[in-house]
Amino acid sequence: MADSKPRILRYGMAAVAEVAARITAGEPVALPTETVYGLAADATDAQAVARIYAAKGRPSFNPLIVHVADLAAAEALAVFDADARMLAAMFWPGPLTLVLPLRDGAAIAGLVTAGLPTIGLRVPRHRAMQAVLATSGRPLAAPSANASNGISPTRAAHVAASLGDRIGLILDDGPTEAGLESTIIAGRTLLRPGPIAIADLPFAVERRAEDGAVIAPGQLKTHYAPAKPLRLNALAPEGDEWLIGFGAIPGDETLSARGDVVEAAARLFDALHRADASDARSIAVAPIPADGLGEAINDRLTRAAHR
Ligand code: AMP
Ligand code: MG
Repeated sequence: MADSKPRILRYGMAAVAEVAARITAGEPVALPTETVYGLAADATDAQAVARIYAAKGRPSFNPLIVHVADLAAAEALAVFDADARMLAAMFWPGPLTLVLPLRDGAAIAGLVTAGLPTIGLRVPRHRAMQAVLATSGRPLAAPSANASNGISPTRAAHVAASLGDRIGLILDDGPTEAGLESTIIAGRTLLRPGPIAIADLPFAVERRAEDGAVIAPGQLKTHYAPAKPLRLNALAPEGDEWLIGFGAIPGDETLSARGDVVEAAARLFDALHRADASDARSIAVAPIPADGLGEAINDRLTRAAHR
């Protein structure tokens, strides 16, 4: 993160090259899509994704939409059924996000899907986002480029006003077209209305709140939580607990030995999955400070502990 005002680069070949270089180096960069300006980071790099959360000051982790260059790149990350292929053929590139089963072994950071076995994917149409995808060669996680609880930005100046000195670079290509976040569909369920109208879909969809417990098909939860009991603020393991450490408490594995909340956020979901897969019957987590990304980590752990 930068300490001074972000540089605003006007769209062009040199600007795209610089943005792609910053992104492959692990830095989030703000750039336009046809919906709103997004804060984009390499979705294969957990630390880069944690920096999105740090910049936005989001108090909780929810799954982020991953942007890819084309259907082939999407199929490398997720498993498509006939419905999903039809929707992709009709609306990609465009403002439609499909929530699909994550492909085994897909190189996507656990923080991107917030530990879920599904992934929200979209092929954007905007020339700037397309150019950065092509040049960086990375799938890009990109929520709206505004501080948490702020209004989604439709101009570079909105991003600068909202994220101020928390990001280093903004790619400016004028106002966005839709000004509204993408329509999100999971199976035949509408998770979020958006620029693609329901009436234009090739089948009827059921409406379900974004934070609804169950999304079709199957019974996929929108929030991952380990199957085992979870105890917070543990200074030492009790019984056969698997202890996830932080700072001075090493545990069976640590979120961050140096007590860095950005590193801890980057490792959180992978650590929970490993704890769930261990032989221990329950999980304990060392105290995590409440400041910065610690707030989002504690939010997710608290929800996982009280189910
Ligand atoms: P945004 O803040 O525009 O990036 O939108 C993120 C939203 O996409 C989340 O709040 C979810 O509603 C949805 N989403 C993304 N990925 C998933 C997923 N794997 N499962 C369910 N919903 C998802
Ligand atoms: Mg937003």
